[in-house]
Amino acid sequence: MKNLKQFINWVFPYKCLICGCEVDQGFTFCPQCFSEITFVDHPICKVCGRMFESPHDSEICESCENSNPYFDLARAIFQYNDASKRIVMNIKKKSDNYTAKICAKMILTRYENIFGEVDYITPVPSHWTRLLVRGFNPANIVAYELSKISNVKYAHLLKRTRRTDYQRNKSVSERSANVSGAFSRNQRKTNDINCKNIILVDDVLTTGSTLNECAQTLKSLGANHVSCITIANTNRR
Ligand SMILES: [Zn+2]
Ligand SMILES: [Zn+2]
Repeated sequence: MKNLKQFINWVFPYKCLICGCEVDQGFTFCPQCFSEITFVDHPICKVCGRMFESPHDSEICESCENSNPYFDLARAIFQYNDASKRIVMNIKKKSDNYTAKICAKMILTRYENIFGEVDYITPVPSHWTRLLVRGFNPANIVAYELSKISNVKYAHLLKRTRRTDYQRNKSVSERSANVSGAFSRNQRKTNDINCKNIILVDDVLTTGSTLNECAQTLKSLGANHVSCITIANTNRR
């Protein structure tokens, strides 16, 4: 080891969260990837956390106004595009949890106010057959890292009762039907959900059907408040 900088770099490798190339100390993205990433920024819908595409009078988007979701709010750090998709892919395939750790830090820094009086952080569960194929559920990993740095208890509150089709290429109503009744209380854990405030974690919010279904299940079990956190969200409703 030639010098201190090399040593520090060896202990704390600074690498781009997207392409994995080496970056200067303290940076999270290389300039190229940084130019491709879009952070979710105000003004956003108070409920679903999606950015408004044009100036907006109401604080709530039409979609939330009409559908009245079961979750109380949802927030994401990135807009979903090719760059943020790679971040999610990195979390899925990673044997180390570097990407998840950094994302958890970003989420906590950005949305610290959400973590105030929370009892549990819980992931949207994957069906076990899918885990056999894929290995990691990114929601589990990010939820676990968030729990470590926020000191909120990590718990598997829900389980999938059946295997659902992939949500991509489905319309809003098809997505909602696909996940309808797909979750229930994880009976192997005895955490009391009644009157609890819960943070529900998933990788991407698209139509919000999956998060909404999970939130509905948690509320039916007596949850008081459900906030959803995702790595990215889309403008597609
Ligand atoms: Zn990069
Ligand atoms: Zn909304």
